[in-house]
Amino acid sequence: MRAVGSQGETRDIARALLAHVTYQRLLGAVGAPAASVPMPAAMAVPPLAAERPAPSAPGAAVTAPVHAAADAALETLDEVRADLGDCQRCKLAGGRTNLVYGVGDPHARLVFVGEGPGADEDAKGEPFVGRAGQLLTEIITKGMKVRRQDVYICNVVKCRPPGNRNPEPDEVAACEPFLVRQLRAIGPEVIVALGKFAAQTLLRSKTPITQLRGRWFDYQGIMLMPTFHPAYLLRNPGDKRLVWEDIQKVMRVLGLPIAGK
Ligand code: URA
Repeated sequence: MRAVGSQGETRDIARALLAHVTYQRLLGAVGAPAASVPMPAAMAVPPLAAERPAPSAPGAAVTAPVHAAADAALETLDEVRADLGDCQRCKLAGGRTNLVYGVGDPHARLVFVGEGPGADEDAKGEPFVGRAGQLLTEIITKGMKVRRQDVYICNVVKCRPPGNRNPEPDEVAACEPFLVRQLRAIGPEVIVALGKFAAQTLLRSKTPITQLRGRWFDYQGIMLMPTFHPAYLLRNPGDKRLVWEDIQKVMRVLGLPIAGK
């Protein structure tokens, strides 16, 4: 067996174990059966190790409990935020009022990733606080019965694209490494990618969101569920039913009670 040489490797092993246990739970081998949940469809995504900073400490024991090892992040959310600083890495910096980093529990089991801040988010410096944000908050608090502060919410890009246009490739290239580091610092069990842009960016895919949503993907050992963006739901309320189906799949994996089931 390969020697464990760094805290990062230990964390990857812990992640793989955690993902395995979670998949087993999904398949009904551990805990309550979830027969209606399809097998996750794995999709290759570049490994986190590619961008991982050099480990600062020698590796922890391989026998460390999964959750304890998974908690041993290489850097904290605050440290990633400090590195962003007064970011001028792309042209979005010039138009922003506030950099919108992310909010919520730094050790959340569930992370929502959107596209980028809109006008309300730019003004407040907090993601998902406008109309779409209110709907997301309802999904979390009324649907999942979880407090907003107990999940983590962020975006692919941290600064508002002008006129709410899609972020451009150079902007994503500048910002996404910070999202990757945020996700690594948090170490969630599940990521929900909100909408086409977040899902296609995270999964390196051009598949339409209508085909991605509702299916499980592997993102660096973390289970990822794409679903429709809340802004889309405001325009297409009939599709809320599909999002609720996707969210229930997430709830099952996290072991959250689903009313009436
Ligand atoms: N839409 C997003 O994708 N992110 C936000 O923060 C707000 C709206």
